[in-house]
Amino acid sequence: MKIISSPAELKNYLVGMNQSIGFIPTMGALHEGHIALIKKAKEQNEIVVVSLFLNPTQFLKDEDLEKYPKKDEADKKICELSGVDIMFFPQVSDMYGVDEVSVLAPKIRGYVLEGESRPGHFNGVLTVVMKLLNIVKPTRAYFGKKDAQQLNLISLMVKQLFMDVEIVPVDTVREKDGLALSSRNVYLNKDERVEALKIASSLRRASAMVSKGVLNSEEITTAMRETLAPLEIFYVEVLDRQFNRLSHVEIANTVILVEVKVGTTRLLDNIWL
Ligand code: AMP
Repeated sequence: MKIISSPAELKNYLVGMNQSIGFIPTMGALHEGHIALIKKAKEQNEIVVVSLFLNPTQFLKDEDLEKYPKKDEADKKICELSGVDIMFFPQVSDMYGVDEVSVLAPKIRGYVLEGESRPGHFNGVLTVVMKLLNIVKPTRAYFGKKDAQQLNLISLMVKQLFMDVEIVPVDTVREKDGLALSSRNVYLNKDERVEALKIASSLRRASAMVSKGVLNSEEITTAMRETLAPLEIFYVEVLDRQFNRLSHVEIANTVILVEVKVGTTRLLDNIWL
């Protein structure tokens, strides 16, 4: 596995390769969720590139940038063992200068849900993803469905800015007890880890209601809020796959999203029905 930290060097290395490139952007502290993205990329492409970059512009001032888990050496091992061909490992100064051009998230879809509680977060996400896609120029880029709003906004950016890359969504990987894997799960203490299971329980409850024919969004979100209590809830929403509110679940066109605070940790999850 080759490790490259300079954007110019990576561009030079990839130029004229004439092979399909699968790309997985990450912020490190890799887990089975990231590995699922890598596996899918390996199945579908000749070369797999993973970037590991803790992107400062997607963190708000009072957020966890400083304490975000760092496991660089373990991450390199995981990538190597997963068959990654190239790991892109830039410094902040390689990626950002002063007085920067940036990508702005759309005014509505970028400022609801997670974008409402973290205003400006998605500007940082879209800007760094645009930079990374321009450096790697992949055939396909892989994103987790767990971050459904991020996936939706990146797909919108690629479509609306006429970019030549296929965005591939990958199913959420969970612990055996249902908790969605996240680099931030390490912040949870033992009691909080138990409390966090309410998130998956609420989604299972929603799914069970739908299987029984209850399609009314309000009924579903009320039941989910009941299951989530007494956690602090940022949102529980029933949306279509384009992220418009739905009054009723539409089978095969619905995402139910939850974001809560467990202790001081914000956790999000969703199901696609
Ligand atoms: P991050 O390092 O948190 O920025 O995540 C990098 C990519 O991994 C994003 O596309 C995430 O959506 C995806 N990802 C994170 N957790 C999971 C998971 N549990 N299952 C599937 N994909 C995930």
